[in-house]
Amino acid sequence: MRYGILTFDEPKKDTSRKIIHIDMDAFYASVEIREDPSLKNKPVVIARHPKDTGGRGVVTTANYEARKYGIHSAMSAQKAFELCPKALFVPPNFDLYREASSKMHQIFRRYTDKIQPLSLDEAYLDVTTNRIDQKSATLIAERIRKEIHSELNLTCSAGVSYNKFLAKLASDYNKPNGITVIPPDKAHDFLVHLPIEKYHGVGEKSVEKMHAIGIYNGQDLFDKEELELVRHFGKMGHSLYRKVRGIDNSEVKNDREPKSIGKESTFAHNLISENEVIGALRELSAKVMRNMSKKQKHGKTVVLKIRYEDFQTYTRRRTFPDYIDDEEELFQIAVSIWEEESLDLSVRLLGITVTGLDSVVFENIPLPLWQKFPDERNTD
Ligand SMILES: [Mg+2]
Repeated sequence: MRYGILTFDEPKKDTSRKIIHIDMDAFYASVEIREDPSLKNKPVVIARHPKDTGGRGVVTTANYEARKYGIHSAMSAQKAFELCPKALFVPPNFDLYREASSKMHQIFRRYTDKIQPLSLDEAYLDVTTNRIDQKSATLIAERIRKEIHSELNLTCSAGVSYNKFLAKLASDYNKPNGITVIPPDKAHDFLVHLPIEKYHGVGEKSVEKMHAIGIYNGQDLFDKEELELVRHFGKMGHSLYRKVRGIDNSEVKNDREPKSIGKESTFAHNLISENEVIGALRELSAKVMRNMSKKQKHGKTVVLKIRYEDFQTYTRRRTFPDYIDDEEELFQIAVSIWEEESLDLSVRLLGITVTGLDSVVFENIPLPLWQKFPDERNTD
């Protein structure tokens, strides 16, 4: 029998943990509106104006007013402009968002150290045990929401449940500025009624495939055999079979991963020529890229640090839409940032750092278990 050698673990549900998922509401846009109240109650799109970029650029975030026009993140700025010509376009200011994010995390740490950020504006918190000895995760979530509002003047949504998957679905359920609690005895009901599009991790392509085999909501998913889900969706099918049963035992992983990888050199003799600087950048790029591939990381932001002979130090940062995975590419970027400097003074120190790191994910490399299905690898 083809699948005879496969055995699946009997899924076990752990309902002993207390997990909160916090998700800021239209984060970048809300931060900009906070900084400039004249933007309030107007459609705000975080992107450079397409007129300034020759129609290029992508929407990072849109506030709820802009969303009423059908504008959403990842849409081209040009399209957003066509949908709502009077929308206010604000170029992103990541330093500002990072600062707000780090203040959020300070609030989280009043309650727990078990924090797993998903992005600047989202995180899981495990408050099973917590710093204020509060048994109710709901009360902690409400306190966090209040403190974020009063101290940062921003709103967020919270989801509270016994695992990450449910907490994330919950925070999305009552957005913006809401809270949803899914206790263990309500999980089944919540999950079976949820449209399949709402299942976190089920992308657009998978939704189409789901519909094709008659899965429109959690109940349809629940009714499928595990083997059938695995046949259609590979590893994701295996995981969804558990999730629709309210099972997700993955830990809230503290983010001890490196956030940036960089290298700097102070030179024994200051660099006085363009060629020396370029040579040093070449060497630094190679070292940084070697380190990144060793740690299986890649990022989209490059920071160049320059210290001149008078000890004036500058850092220049540039963010790209795609991951930088290649030594030559990193070198070219470093050179292009350097080109905005002038070599009036000799250079004492140079540094290259790649930040905002993510793990390199190899797609389409099947795990040993899934090699049993060579024609049915999940490609989502
Ligand atoms: Mg958000």
